[in-house]
Amino acid sequence: MSCLRPNIAQMAGYVPGYQPPDSEAWIKLNTNENPYPPSPQVVEAIRQELGELGDSLRMYPDAGSVQVRRTAATLFGFEPSWVITANGSDELLNNLIRAFAGEGEEVAYIHPSYSYYATLAQIQGAKIRTFGLTADYRIADFPSRYEGKLFFLTSPNAPLGFTFPLDYVANIARRCAGMLVVDEAYVDFAEANALELVKEFDNVVVTRTFSKSYSLAGMRLGLAVARPEVIQALDKIRDHYHLDRLALAAAGAALRDQAYLRETVGRIRDTRAWFSTELGALGYALVDSQTNFVFASPPDRNGKRVYEGLYARKILVRYFSDPLLAHGLRITIGTRQEMEQTLAVLKELG
Ligand SMILES: *Cc1c(COP(=O)(O)O)cnc(C)c1O
Repeated sequence: MSCLRPNIAQMAGYVPGYQPPDSEAWIKLNTNENPYPPSPQVVEAIRQELGELGDSLRMYPDAGSVQVRRTAATLFGFEPSWVITANGSDELLNNLIRAFAGEGEEVAYIHPSYSYYATLAQIQGAKIRTFGLTADYRIADFPSRYEGKLFFLTSPNAPLGFTFPLDYVANIARRCAGMLVVDEAYVDFAEANALELVKEFDNVVVTRTFSKSYSLAGMRLGLAVARPEVIQALDKIRDHYHLDRLALAAAGAALRDQAYLRETVGRIRDTRAWFSTELGALGYALVDSQTNFVFASPPDRNGKRVYEGLYARKILVRYFSDPLLAHGLRITIGTRQEMEQTLAVLKELG
């Protein structure tokens, strides 16, 4: 295939977290899915949209996602022209790179954070730069002026779970010549968010997903808040019918049921607090989590040993062989019962 672009020929491709075919047989704590079902109003909205005979599916969906954007805009305190919805926040990350970084131009992100940014940059043929973290979870050696086209700041961070303080993120926005993308995939589990920075700085984009806090990973829904000029650019690039009718119905209903979001997120945060305390008592070192997972290191700092011990008992967590992360595990917060079972195995494993 000599006509294949060299960057595509050479890239490895992203490997998503493992989805076991017999997922019912596992306690699945490896991809930060929500253990609770989506809001009953989401299920009802999908049924309504589908109708008895699925007749609505004959027709194309609303290409502009007008109603959902309006709902999200009202919820976040913005005009609808500041909001775009997407087929997962991954679509937005992809289109941001396509909009702002040409071939050979630079994009950056923090290592460790979400490695999919690198895959998307490779597809585009953009250059990739990574910044490390200091011991107190600030960006190591960030220049007073960063000239790259895009900087992806995952906050709360994955896989570690901490959040960058808002004034720190504002400071980073000031230092970026290009766009600062604050990837807030986990923000509903955190104390604060960066939406106000979108109003303050013309180079800030905030991305969100419905996959974690809204229990809709299987529906593929995300959104971004940014200046209208940015939203218009993203609207030019996207597939025109990127959200199907069922996804649009689900998104609107999920956003409207904030009471359900608060309740399920509250339960996960309570379980997170309890599980963190218990792990601490077992001698684990934990990063203070603002997400629906914890990054925890066993006393012998051997993440692989504990991963394998859990795996043998049909409990699936995330182990990263990366030397910066191999001392620990990323464990999604499931139901209280799932975490009690996990804790019991961790006690046996020592
Ligand atoms: C899960 C996740 C995403 C992807 O979200 P989707 O909406 O499912 O595409 C993006 N960024 C981070 C940091 C994530 O953890």
